[in-house]
Amino acid sequence: MSVTTLCQVCESATARYTCDACGAAVCPAHYDRESGLCAGCAGGLR
Ligand SMILES: [Zn+2]
Ligand SMILES: [Zn+2]
Repeated sequence: MSVTTLCQVCESATARYTCDACGAAVCPAHYDRESGLCAGCAGGLR
């Protein structure tokens, strides 16, 4: 199992977290650990 899950926001970095709201796999740069949301759900990206 060497498949790498890519961040669903930038699609270039390895996803290490999962958004609590939409379930998207996101990289550390697009995940807010305080809220547990991805950049999209946190309002940082439209
Ligand atoms: Zn990303
Ligand atoms: Zn989300």
